[in-house]
Amino acid sequence: MLEYFEDDSEERFRDIIENHLEEARRRAFSLIEAARVDENGCRVTDTVKPQKVRFNGHQWEAYRFIYCVLNQEIASRDRVVRHRCHNRSCINPEHLEIGSQQDNKRDDWEHWAYGSDPDYL
Ligand SMILES: [Zn+2]
Repeated sequence: MLEYFEDDSEERFRDIIENHLEEARRRAFSLIEAARVDENGCRVTDTVKPQKVRFNGHQWEAYRFIYCVLNQEIASRDRVVRHRCHNRSCINPEHLEIGSQQDNKRDDWEHWAYGSDPDYL
């Protein structure tokens, strides 16, 4: 499943990082604080879908917001925030990294195929 930013979201993120960083960081930390730690060290909430956060008049997926704010790095259509833990509800910044859309697909595939014959991959 591909996820795309809205066209202006890179701009919006740039604005947050340039003009609202302190407030955004506080918000990110309070989201992380409020989440429950599961047996994998993931920080999750009990929502079915990835948690959303409203900031600066716009709604973001919490994990993407947290990654971009804490790392001051802007995700885009080609550079997506990925879950190393494969738990899309997780907002633990240590489980998040940025990669290409390609990496993301490969990840999902490897995760799905985990345990099958490596020669087959
Ligand atoms: Zn995780």
